[in-house]
Amino acid sequence: MIEIVNFINGEHVRGAESEGLFSLNPATEERIAHVTVSSPADVDAAVQAARAAYDSGPWPRLSVEERAYYLHAIADALEDNLALFAQYECEDTGFLAKMCRDGHLPRAVEHFRFFAEEGKRFFGSAIPVGDAYFNLTHPVPLGVAAIITPWNGPLAVSSINLAAALIAGNCVVLKPSEMAPVTISLLGQIFAEIGLPPGVVNIVQGAGSPTGQALIRHPDIDLVCFIGGTQVGKAVLRHAADTVRRSLLELGGKSPTVVLADADLDAALDGALVSAFSSNGQVCTAGSRIIVERAIAEEFSRRFIERTRQIRVGDPFDARSEIGPMISAGHREQMLRAIDAAQRQGARLRTGGAIPAWCERGFYIEPAVFTDVHPRSDLARQEIFGPVIGMFTAEDEADALRLANDTCFGLAGSVWSRDQSRALAFAKKMQAGNVGVNTPYIRDIRCPFGGFKQSGIGAVGGRWSLEHYTQTQTLCVPLSGYALPKYGVEP
Ligand code: NDP
Repeated sequence: MIEIVNFINGEHVRGAESEGLFSLNPATEERIAHVTVSSPADVDAAVQAARAAYDSGPWPRLSVEERAYYLHAIADALEDNLALFAQYECEDTGFLAKMCRDGHLPRAVEHFRFFAEEGKRFFGSAIPVGDAYFNLTHPVPLGVAAIITPWNGPLAVSSINLAAALIAGNCVVLKPSEMAPVTISLLGQIFAEIGLPPGVVNIVQGAGSPTGQALIRHPDIDLVCFIGGTQVGKAVLRHAADTVRRSLLELGGKSPTVVLADADLDAALDGALVSAFSSNGQVCTAGSRIIVERAIAEEFSRRFIERTRQIRVGDPFDARSEIGPMISAGHREQMLRAIDAAQRQGARLRTGGAIPAWCERGFYIEPAVFTDVHPRSDLARQEIFGPVIGMFTAEDEADALRLANDTCFGLAGSVWSRDQSRALAFAKKMQAGNVGVNTPYIRDIRCPFGGFKQSGIGAVGGRWSLEHYTQTQTLCVPLSGYALPKYGVEP
C-alpha cells in the first residue's frame, strides 16, 4: 500500500492525525493508499513554508526564463514516468486507463510546458501619456496561492493552476482530494528530484474538513483557486470575503446538448453520447441534459437509449470498457438515491440506473437515461456527477434555448444543426462558458475555460490564468521637461 504524506518545505512529512484515511481503487474496492490527514497545524506549517519561500526565497526573484526551466524539468520528469502515473491515476479514480494514459497525463505534461512558454510572453506595456510621461505596466505575482482540487483528473486539473501560479512567481499550497491523492503525492517526489527550491510548492493531504477548511481560512494566503462543487465553492467565497482575497472558482455544471430539428442525427447522437458519458460521466462539462426539438425527439431519444444500453461498463484497464466505476461507494449511493427520487418526481427511467448484475465488487452503475423529466425537478436542476441523463423535448428553437438556459449553472454545452450559422447564433445565446457548435466542447489550454452563473468566477487557460495569478502594477515615469506645479511657492 502506498503511504501518502505531506510535502512541506521540500520534505515528505506525516500529518498530525495518525489514523489517516484510505484511498480505494473504485474498480476493486481494495485499499491502495493510506492517506495522512493534515491538521490545521500541518496546514499552517505548509503556508508558512510557502510564505518564507515567497517573502525571502529565490522563486519570485528568479527571471521568468529561470522559472520556465523548472517547469520544463517537471514536464520532462512527468513524461518520463507517464505510464506509471497513468496507471496510478486509473487505479485511484476509476477513469479508463486509455483516458488517463492518452488524455489526462499528456495534458498535465502539456500544461507545464505551455505555461513555461506562455509566461515569457506575458509582459507589460508602455503607454505614452502625451509628452509628459510614460505609464509602464508589468505583472507582479500575488504571493501564496492556495489551490484546492477535486478527484476527477487530479493531475490534469491541478497542473493547469500549479503551472500558471508558478511561472507567475507565486508559491503554492496545494490540497488534492482525499479520494484520489496518489499522483499529486508523486508529483512531490518530482519536485524534490528536479531541485525545486523548498517551500515553492507544498502539498497538504487530507479531507475537506479539517484540511481544506484550514487552508481556506488561513490568514496568510494571498489568493485562492478552488476547483470543485458549487456548495463548497460558496464556502470558499465566504471566507475570501473577510480578507477580500482574490478567488478563482471553477465549479459544477448541468450542461445541455441541444439537438435542433435540422441536425445531422448520426453526428449529434455520437456527440451527445460522448458529452454524456466520457470520463464515466464524472466531468464538470458532462452533457447531462439533452434537449431535442419535437420533430426529431422520438427518433433521437429511441436511438440514444439503444446506444446507451450497449455501452460497455467494466474494468477501466480493459480496453473495451467505455465507462468505469464511480469514485466511491458513497458517491454511487448518492446517485442511486437521485435516480430513485427522479422516478418519484415523475421522470421515466428508460434504461440503466442499477448496479450491473455481474458486479460483485467495484462501484459500478449502469448508465441511466430518463425521459419525461420535469424542468423544475431535481434531476433537471442538480448536478449528479455521473452517467445519469435527462432528456427534454423542446417545442421549437426558442423553447430549446429557454430550456438550455434554465439552470443555475453555465459551464458548457453544445448545439447541433446542419445550418452552421443557425447553430452559431444559437450558441452565442447560450449562457455557458464553453460551447461546442456541431461538436462536443473540446478544451484547449490556450483558451479561457470558465463558467457563467454558479459554475464559477474567472477562467483558466492562456493569459486568463496568468491574469488570476498576478496583479498588474502601473509605474508612472515622467519625461524630461515635465514640470510639476509648485505648491506653496508664490507665482
Ligand atoms: P468537492 O467540492 O466535494 O471537493 C473539491 C475539493 O475541495 C476536494 O479537495 C475536497 O476535499 C475539498 N473540500 C471539501 N470540503 C471542503 C471545505 N469545506 N473546505 C475546503 N475544501 C473542501 O468536489 P469533488 O471533489 O466531489 O469534485 C466534483 C465537483 O467538482 C463537481 O461539482 C464538478 O463539476 C467540479 N469540477 C469542476 C471543474 C471545473 O473546472 N469547473 C473541474 C472538475 C470538477 P476532499 O475531497 O478531500 O473532501
